[in-house]
Amino acid sequence: MTTTVIDNIGLLVTNDPAFGHLTAERRDAALVIENDRIAWIGDSRHAPDADERVDAGGRCVIPGFVDSHSHLVFAGDRSVEFEHRMAGHSYGAGGIRSTVAATRAASDDTLRTVAGRIVEEMRAQGTTTVEIKSGYGLTKADELRSLVIAREFTDETTFLGAHVVPGEFAGDPAGYVELVAGEMLDACAPHARWIDVFCEGGAFDVDQARAILTAGRRHGLLARMHTGQLATSGGVRLAVEMDAASVDHCTFISAADVDDLAASSTVATLLPGAEFSTRQRYPDALRLLNAGVTVAIATDCNPGSSFTSSMPFCIALAVRELRMSPAEALWAATAGGAAALRRTDVGLITVGGRADVVILDAPSYVYLAYRPGVPLVHRVFDSK
Ligand SMILES: [Zn+2]
Repeated sequence: MTTTVIDNIGLLVTNDPAFGHLTAERRDAALVIENDRIAWIGDSRHAPDADERVDAGGRCVIPGFVDSHSHLVFAGDRSVEFEHRMAGHSYGAGGIRSTVAATRAASDDTLRTVAGRIVEEMRAQGTTTVEIKSGYGLTKADELRSLVIAREFTDETTFLGAHVVPGEFAGDPAGYVELVAGEMLDACAPHARWIDVFCEGGAFDVDQARAILTAGRRHGLLARMHTGQLATSGGVRLAVEMDAASVDHCTFISAADVDDLAASSTVATLLPGAEFSTRQRYPDALRLLNAGVTVAIATDCNPGSSFTSSMPFCIALAVRELRMSPAEALWAATAGGAAALRRTDVGLITVGGRADVVILDAPSYVYLAYRPGVPLVHRVFDSK
């Protein structure tokens, strides 16, 4: 058994709901880590001895980020598509198909290397929990291997066979829905915790999404959804109806959608990296927060519409473009992400909880937005 004390913490963000206030901050604090768990939190002056002492030097300490939405199992490069989009061409769901072709052609080792490199990037930027989706295979075999590879990096794996209808089913979308909800799901379910559908024009409509999510539930998978990225649809209502843990994007949603979300336990996960990278309108975070909706922020890291692995960058966007306060954005990127994964053991620093702890190279988490693009992660403690 080894113990580590981190003392001389200028500002400790615990997010502990027992303290009432959103981020539950303490000044001049210390904490003790014992075997990957938090064993003690208190005043730095009263910090106990431990095997190892880490002097935080007055820095800010926060819970590790919980990135609840990413697509890391892929091959290929879409930088040219990005360049064209920045030159004024429009974004549609179809670009996904070019990644599908590259992913199908790639070896397992290539896919593993790409995913592993991005997970390392994320960790270096303070992310200690990540959800990873399939969705660039779109055959039974390729979705299966995508999930097997994703599981090597996280338990939070999501079957997204319903990402788009692949080219070979262009004339028979109903046949593809049948495959996803049938044979593909049978093969993939043992390797996934979640099932997700891209419910959007050009991808899947509400009835198709309902059929797929319902089939997933029969296999014990929990629902989450992509919807409202490009237009308003009935996707949010369906997410609430299906008791989805999270409905992601929520840029285009109706007043009734906001009311439905506020009355539900479904989290609205905002992905401002996608709006940044596709030059679309940003979601209205304050409308959701003011209505009492639980809001999370995630990267949506993927090679097409949001190729950032940085939660600090997404926090900066949430503050600058979504008008969230720095405290709201930090909470959304930690405890909010945990809620979007229906987890209570991550996204906070509490005695007995996991020691997923980030020391920022800054006196306050406000710096995450105040100094955008600057590496501010001093040290990461990861319980896994
Ligand atoms: Zn996504």
